[in-house]
Amino acid sequence: MRAANLMGMAANSGMSIDGWMGAAQRIDSPNADDRSVGEAISLIVVHSISLPPAEFGGDDIVRLFTNTLDPDAHPYFSGISSLRVSAHFLIRRDGELTQFVSCLKRAWHAGLSSFNGRENCNDFSIGIELEGCDDSPFEDAQYVQLVALIKLIRTCFPIDAVVGHSCVSPGRKTDPGPCFDWQRLAVFGASLVRAL
Ligand SMILES: [Zn+2]
Repeated sequence: MRAANLMGMAANSGMSIDGWMGAAQRIDSPNADDRSVGEAISLIVVHSISLPPAEFGGDDIVRLFTNTLDPDAHPYFSGISSLRVSAHFLIRRDGELTQFVSCLKRAWHAGLSSFNGRENCNDFSIGIELEGCDDSPFEDAQYVQLVALIKLIRTCFPIDAVVGHSCVSPGRKTDPGPCFDWQRLAVFGASLVRAL
């Protein structure tokens, strides 16, 4: 029944029956696995990432998510190159959208996390990375793309909340950080968007 519903909605949404968004550049990450059968996708987790830290552009985020980051290319990389992480989506500074994992699969973005008393947010969430860092404002094009993406995801899945990584992993993560303007998501209403 869920598959049938998704198929019907996908026809109008731009997302394929297998959870890939047609408008996004697709780069498959191996860092993903199956969701539990019957698991509702009810949460969107907003992140920020930049590699090297506070530098934009380049392909190091893609390399991290595809396990091809060169540990010797930058001092910071030696500590993260062995991580096995991913996100469903990445929104670049110019708004370009890349998808690494089907929305129907579990991407490895939140790590130790909990929301509303439920552990392991990866199980029931979609992870969206914005290229950015804690002390730089995000670009207009990123907000435009993020709003469009959230709208599309909501046509396919019963999303109850949009939160930052810092909300589900407090004390461990700070992203998307103080420069992320949650008011830019006000179109969705305070009952959906939980800025903490
Ligand atoms: Zn994060």
